[in-house]
Order: sequence, then structure tokens, then C-alpha cells
Amino acid sequence: MNYCIKHSQFKLTFAVISTLLFTGTAYAAKPPAPELSNAQFQQCLNGLKNSSTFRGVSSQTFERYRPSQPDPSVIQSLNYQPEFQKDVWDYLSALVDKERVDDGIQAKHQWSDTLRRIEARYGVKPEHVLGVWGVESNFGQTLGKKPLFDSLATLSCFDRRQSYFQGEYANALKIVQNGDIAASDMTGSWAGAFGQTQFMPSTFLELAVDFDGDGRRDLVNSVPDALASTANFLSKRGYRSGEPWGYEVSKPANFWATSNRRDKKPMSYWRNQGFTLANGRPLPYDLDRAALIMPAGNDGPAFLVGKNFDTFYSYNASENYALAIAHLSDLITREDSNRTDFITSWPTDDPGISRQQAKEIQQALLNAGYDIGEVDGIIGDNTRKAIMQYQSSRGVFPADGRAGQKFYRLITNTNAPINNTQPVPYQQSPYQPHTQPTPTANDSMAQLINNRASYRRITNADGSIQLIRVDDGS
Ligand code: CA
Repeated sequence: MNYCIKHSQFKLTFAVISTLLFTGTAYAAKPPAPELSNAQFQQCLNGLKNSSTFRGVSSQTFERYRPSQPDPSVIQSLNYQPEFQKDVWDYLSALVDKERVDDGIQAKHQWSDTLRRIEARYGVKPEHVLGVWGVESNFGQTLGKKPLFDSLATLSCFDRRQSYFQGEYANALKIVQNGDIAASDMTGSWAGAFGQTQFMPSTFLELAVDFDGDGRRDLVNSVPDALASTANFLSKRGYRSGEPWGYEVSKPANFWATSNRRDKKPMSYWRNQGFTLANGRPLPYDLDRAALIMPAGNDGPAFLVGKNFDTFYSYNASENYALAIAHLSDLITREDSNRTDFITSWPTDDPGISRQQAKEIQQALLNAGYDIGEVDGIIGDNTRKAIMQYQSSRGVFPADGRAGQKFYRLITNTNAPINNTQPVPYQQSPYQPHTQPTPTANDSMAQLINNRASYRRITNADGSIQLIRVDDGS
């Protein structure tokens, strides 16, 4: 999911924000869908139609796609606060799992000619394009189903940040008016990101390209258009051809630092400090300057990241998000889906689970009589509540609702056909709460988080949760 153009709108991944903000287990309840007056809505649309923001939209276009009523669910999403925290290892294990790496390797071979031509034009490594594609839309498999005009029109007329959404509404209409994308294909996240690149309409108008040569920039149906537009995005944000994004590294003993993506230093500095690659080999010479990031603090995996990592970050202002793209692209390069972990372990005795394991947990909960809705591999609020209840019923402490490896083993064992009356191993050993990463003073994320009121939550098509900053560019 990408952010914006001229203005400084950012999106923050829920994992990051929630890890830093929500230290409790439960946070807040989902607000009810508001009652929205259709009379007020239609009056608002009348005003918008004649406003300067919609100057480039013809009256005919405006009326043709004018919603007959508002969609209260998007206002509900706008004001929704997630109830549960998510650690970086949970976030990454769901985004970069065997399934997604296998899909990425397959896509690399399927689109190799296109990717080669894209690299020739934009200078972006194919696997970096694939990393974005995989994280954004699961390689085009999940694009979001909310009708964009209904969502954006509602957001333009109710609640907060109306002027931002008015601009996106006008831009969405222009895309259809230009003939780039069919109106019936204009569906996406509740906040208006759409297509295989999950661009907001403003980003589409700035950066989308026609790469298959049919004269239309169709980021919904054309994979070449979507991949080239992604490469164009990265290129315009400062991508450096031939450079890696960075590497997982090993810190010298007793080295202490704060994670700071902006504090780039020459690679010679890190070499002199005694840094090596995580596998012990010397740092390569293919990167000019790099900064040290440690998503879970000094005890977890550490990375030296260069300018290309920043271009991933600019797609969606979250370091964990950028790391997911980076890591996925490395595994696709290596064509190895069997080991999706980093070399250094996360500082937890209860690592995260894959989407496949999430599905198995959900099925086991259903089998045990918990109503968690659909088995979709997404650990949402309903699943987490069911996990809490299950944990409580089994005497697991704390009953935190988290789906990690321990819970996976617990519930898949106990639901095995053979009835066991033995205490399960999970209950025999005291549960160790995992370490919480803490924000650092130098972390740009911490600064962004201080202004939490300007962020809104987005549930992506693939179920990942993000917060979008929706200010007016001031
Ligand atoms: Ca095209």
C-alpha cells in the first residue's frame, strides 16, 4: 500500500504502531457503524461536483458514478482501533512465509521477460519489484473488494480528513474518465488503495505507466503495467541500480547502538567496527553507505540498510513493512522457500506462524466449537478472542490471544483424533512473555507515532492492517 505524492502522507503498518503503542492486551472495541444521513451526503456531493477539486472531472462522469447512498462501514474502518498488538516476528512470519516465497519464485519465472525489460528501462532488480508485488497484493491475488467511488465519496463527506479524500475521490474519477481502468474494476481497500500495486489514485496519476503498450495504464488487469509502475515508483523515489537493499549482519560483541535508518554511514565505518554478514562472511563492497536497524532491539536480528531500503520504506512508511519486502526479495533471489527465518533469532521463545499454520489454528478452533468466522489464515480480532478463551479454558497464562508457535502446537496436539488426558507440554512450562521492542528517541517511527491522531487504520486486501496518515499536506 503506498502513500501519496506531493504531500507528506504516510502509512504506518499496524504491526509497528501497535507494538509501540498498545502495551496492554486488549485495547478498544470496534465502534458501531454510524448512521449517515443520505440527504446530507447528496448535498455534500452537489457541493463537491462544483468545487475546484473536481474541476477536471466532467459533470457526466461525476453523475455516472455518483453513489446513491453513503457507505457507513468505511467510517467505521476510519475510526477503528485494533484491539490486539502484533510483534515484529508475527508480522513478518505471516507476510514472508513459504507460500509467498513459492508464489514469488513462480512469478519470477513466469514474468521473466517482462521483468528483464522493466529492469532495462527503470534499473530496478526484478526481485525487488516482486517483493513489493508480493507484499502489496500477494502477486495480484488480493486486490480489495470495496467499490472505490462509494468509499471515497463517503470519506469525502463525513468524519475526518475530508479534503484529503476529496482529492482522492476526484483523482479516482479522473482515472476512469481517462479510460485507464474500467469503472467496474475500481475496487480496493476501504481507504481507496487499489490494483496490484495498491496505489492511491493520486499515486496512480503520478506514477502509473503503460508497459504492455495498449495505451491504458491498467494496474488492475495488466501485470506488465503493474510491475513497471512499481519499478517506476521505486525509481522516482531514488532507487540505485545495482545496489542491494542491505544485509542481515552480525554485530561485534559488546556493540550497542540505537536503531536509526536515517543515520547512514560509509560501509568502511561498519567494517572497522567489526561488523560482518550474519553468516560471518565479510561485508561486501556493493553498497556505499548504510544504516543499522534492529527491529526488535539489540538482541534480535540486525540489518545494515542502504538507499534502496528507503525506497521500499517510501512505499509505506514502516521499517517492518520495508523489511518484509527486502526479505521476501532475498528469498525469491535465492529461490529457497524452506528457510524463511533470519539467521539471528528474534528475542522470543515463541516465534510467529505462517499463514498455513494460522489456517490450521482457525480450523482447530472451529472444530473445538469457537465461532471465528471464515478460515482465512488471518489472525484477526475474532480469532484472537477465541484463542484467549481457549487459553483460559486450558489454564494457559497469560491468555493473551496470541497465535505463536506454542499455541499452534498446543491446539493442533489437543485436537488430534486420539483423546489425550495428559497435560500438554505448553502447560507444563511457565509461559514466557516475549520481549517488547521499545521505541528509540532517534526512531522516526516514534516521532510519527506521537501524532497518532492523524493516522487511520486500513485493512488491506490480504488482511494485513495498516494505519494511514491522512493529513492535508500542510
Ligand atoms: Ca497497458
